[in-house]
Formats: sequence, structure tokens, C-alpha cells
Amino acid sequence: MSIEVKQVTKLYVDQKALDTISFEIKTGEVVGFLGPNGAGKSTMMKIITGFIPPTWGEVFVEGLDAVTHSMEVRSLIGYLPENNPLYLDMYVKEYLEFVAGIYKLPNKKQRVDEMIHQTGLEIEKHKKIGALSKGYRQRVGLAQALIHDPKVLILDEPTSGLDPNQIVEIRHLISEVGKEKTIMLSTHIMQEVEAICDKIIILNQGKIVANDQTLNIHQQAKSKTQVVHVEFNTDPKVEELDKISGVSSVKHVKPKHWIIEAVSENDVREHIFKFAVDNSYSVLSMQQKEKTLEEVFQELTKN
Ligand code: ADP
Ligand code: MG
Repeated sequence: MSIEVKQVTKLYVDQKALDTISFEIKTGEVVGFLGPNGAGKSTMMKIITGFIPPTWGEVFVEGLDAVTHSMEVRSLIGYLPENNPLYLDMYVKEYLEFVAGIYKLPNKKQRVDEMIHQTGLEIEKHKKIGALSKGYRQRVGLAQALIHDPKVLILDEPTSGLDPNQIVEIRHLISEVGKEKTIMLSTHIMQEVEAICDKIIILNQGKIVANDQTLNIHQQAKSKTQVVHVEFNTDPKVEELDKISGVSSVKHVKPKHWIIEAVSENDVREHIFKFAVDNSYSVLSMQQKEKTLEEVFQELTKN
């Protein structure tokens, strides 16, 4: 097991930021850490990286206790903190050499050159960090996190604040440099999770509300609720639609267009069709939609 979190609670004065959290991340897994702002994601990541201690509970990284062995744990982890704090007055190369020095790496210059190459910083390496675009600053942050070749990468919202092209670039870079590493990354972008994560952990108000393989989370949502988009020739009344067998909610999207949700063993489309025939409506179109991860997330984290 690469990361083990056991019954972790974190109090900030009397506020519970994390409430008896437990989970495990296996070696080589890429885990998406999701949750609304304030859910406790950054707090959990700071505890795993050994930067702050839990109030109660234990965290092990590669079998080492993050509190009692925090220095060893930090050397096993590459950490990109939220908002990527960097020394804006330092030059890219100078900064990475400084970081390499902190880790007391042998062949410092060679390792810095490798990182500059790997993260695509070649053309910007002689600039001050403050002069770089946000996308390039994120590359510097990743280079900093990877320079000591850690087994585990903890990335706190690595793509936040980037434009759509930069997001894709950084995402590719993470997949590329993260091969053979255990990765935990927090994000608000669901496509990101679907594109690169094996597993999803969703946090809400300091508690875990989902922890499963990305595929399973989709399937769970799918088996519970059917979502059907229907276009009628004229609008039925809400009360009529509500009475259809299995229907749990109906939404009028625009004239004649409805989204009908149902919880049922049978395909609700048959019931909708029968309802239309029995009541002399015509169904102009009908499509069953799978729930998106976004919708699953909203359901699990609404308060
Ligand atoms: P997330 O990263 O999911 O947005 P955080 O871990 O940053 O959540 O915050 C969880 C909760 O803990 C929030 O309510 C936040 O205000 C609070 N919090 C975070 N850091 C501190 C701190 N240093 N002191 C007091 N409260 C904090
Ligand atoms: Mg955060």
C-alpha cells in the first residue's frame, strides 16, 4: 500500500475540517480527490505530505508514519501545493537548482536539465518565474515536485486557473511524468478525472461520500436512476408525467421538451411511450442519457 489514511480527524480550533477519514491508495494508482471548496481536500493533502499533523488518527506513506517520520515521508513525496507558491524573483533554472540543493541531490545540474527537458521548460529556463505564464509556472511547480524522483505525487488542483489549452497540456504532462508513480490529485474538472484517474474519492464537509473505481461510480449512478430526454408534440401537465410508473422527477426544459428521471427495474421509456399513446400525445423524440460524473458529484455533495 502506498498511502494509508486511518481514522484521521483534523480540528482547526473547534472546526472539524476532516472527520474520521480512512482510505488506502495502492502503489501505481492514480486517484482523483474531489469535493466542493472547503471540503477538506487541501487539509488532507497537507497531512499526507507531513506538513501538518492530524488531530487524531494516523497516516502512512510507503509504510512510514507521516508524523513521526515526516522528513523521510517528504522525501518520498512530490508535492504541488494549492496555488503553487513559487519564488517569483528567481530564475527558473536557479530555482530548480535551489530545490535540488534542498534534497541534496547528486549531479544537481544534470538533474535540473533533465527536469527542464521533461516538463517542456527549455525555452523559458532563463526567465524569471514571475515573467512566466500560469501554464509555465505550473510546469515549474511540477518540475519542483518531481526533481527528487519521488514514488508518490500529491497535486493540489494542478490545473486550476489555467486556460483550456494549458489544462490539456498540463494534464498530458501529468500522465507522462506520472508513469509508474502513485498519484493523488484534487481537481474540479470532471473530464480530468475521467481521463486520467483509476479511482475517485469524493469528500464533502470533511467526510468521505464516495470511494470507488471511476468505472464503478459511473455504473452505480447508472443503475440507480434513468434519465430520459423527451420531446412531445404538445406539453403534458407535470401531474400527468409524475404519475408515470417509476418516475421520480420531471423537469420542463423548454416548450415540449422534458427531462424525466425514474428509478425503476424496467426501462421507463416503455412507460412514457404507453402514457403518450393512452393520452393522445405524440413522442417526437426520446433519448436515454447516462448520468454524468458531474451530476453524480452534485448529488453526493449537495447539503
Ligand atoms: P478544500 O481544499 O477542500 O477547499 P480545505 O482543506 O482548504 O478545503 O479547508 C477545509 C476547511 O478547513 C474549510 O472550512 C477551511 O476554511 C478550514 N481551514 C483550512 N485551513 C485552515 C486554517 N489554517 N485555519 C483554520 N481553518 C482552516
Ligand atoms: Mg483546497
